[in-house]
Amino acid sequence: MDRKPKLCAPSAGWRMLDPSDPVSRQAATINRQHVELARMCAGAIDVEKDTVMDVSSRLSARTGLSESRVLAYCDIGFMLRDYPLLADCIGQGGFSLQHLTTIANDLAAVSEECRERVEKGVVQELTPRRANQAVPGVRTVHRTMQRVVEQHDRKGRPTDEEEVKKRRPKAPKPELKIDDRPSDRTEYHLELPKLEALEFTRALENVAVKEECSHVEALLKIVRGEARPDITLNLYAPKDNPTRLHGAGVDLEPEAAREWLERVTHIRHVGYAETEGYVPTAAIRAAVVGRDGTCRFPGCTIEAEDCQLDHIARYNHEDPSKGGPTNTANLHCLCSKHHRLKTSGQWNVAMYPDGSQLWSSYGDGHTLVTEPNGVLRRETFEKRAERRVRRVRDLNGELFGDGMFGDEVSGDALSEDEMFADGPMGDALSEDGPHEGEPSGAAVNNGKRPGVGFGDEQLAAG
Ligand SMILES: [Zn+2]
Repeated sequence: MDRKPKLCAPSAGWRMLDPSDPVSRQAATINRQHVELARMCAGAIDVEKDTVMDVSSRLSARTGLSESRVLAYCDIGFMLRDYPLLADCIGQGGFSLQHLTTIANDLAAVSEECRERVEKGVVQELTPRRANQAVPGVRTVHRTMQRVVEQHDRKGRPTDEEEVKKRRPKAPKPELKIDDRPSDRTEYHLELPKLEALEFTRALENVAVKEECSHVEALLKIVRGEARPDITLNLYAPKDNPTRLHGAGVDLEPEAAREWLERVTHIRHVGYAETEGYVPTAAIRAAVVGRDGTCRFPGCTIEAEDCQLDHIARYNHEDPSKGGPTNTANLHCLCSKHHRLKTSGQWNVAMYPDGSQLWSSYGDGHTLVTEPNGVLRRETFEKRAERRVRRVRDLNGELFGDGMFGDEVSGDALSEDEMFADGPMGDALSEDGPHEGEPSGAAVNNGKRPGVGFGDEQLAAG
């Protein structure tokens, strides 16, 4: 099929591609170099095998750019590869890096079968119609992209944070109802949004364990000032992944992420970590929990936060040098049931550098592979692309349903910075951190003792 765009009138062209203007010429050269760099970044990637973390760290070292920046180049490179006509159209130097980043992001969730039609529409919009025409601004291009994508693939329409905020039903407000009509007692009915409820429950559990009392007694002790909850909630804000409060089981919306990030008392850059003794440090626990997401036994869905850390190769208490080390590569999350099962020797498990595990049953020789599913897992480019597509398409389905797509929507309040953020708050934590680009974890403390570690009850038994 002939996919060539219509030729424009001979005199039509972007003003900034005017070769007689040396400043324009220089800008166009820079723009073309961005395109070339994007092609090179994406060119060597095996999307099925290469993990985002490995590639972005390598490219970051080779280019001197931040990891989120090189990932943006990769995304542009993938877009140029998937949309050859568009690549010709924007590859001539008329569009800045910001334009390219926006276009690549905006096309990220378009389904394969709609690609060709979307491409034609976009090329038509991004082709100059008049002589000396000015290149449209980034925000205009973004709105154009929304319109064109929506026309051909409604669910793939790029979303805006502001729009999501406006459309999404407000989270219920905390509510406390007190009923003192019964003569012998007073009834309290407390309703909390999920995240506050998580904090509340953890505080009660903490005091109940420390004071060896019931949850009700724990609440009374807190009220009377006889006990103070001492909890740490881990907030993960990895690059290119949504912020997640561990234990909550859901990704935070950008607004909620910002609120929680404001409460952070202790920032930690999570990566490989090790320690001499048997008990994992808070940094190790944060990294392992963030990587695993759930108990690692095949099929188990118990949250990693509620799991124990288990030494994959057994720790040797008599002679630690002869046993498995206490580090992120030799620890994984197991719920108490599966921890007992593994300790009893029914299953053998091995972990690969990418975090996937091979479980083999001594009973019948069955083998099974599990992949980590926490926010800090090492994700391949293919998995990342799938996740991005799913997120946009689910969100569009949830926000607009099928019948409401005709409604006018506005992205006016979107700042350019927001548009270029890789993910919600993607850069917020690492900007001033010592290892920019590493996945970050942060602890939200209950505010009284900044920077304390994890509660004893969360420590390992392995
Ligand atoms: Zn389990």
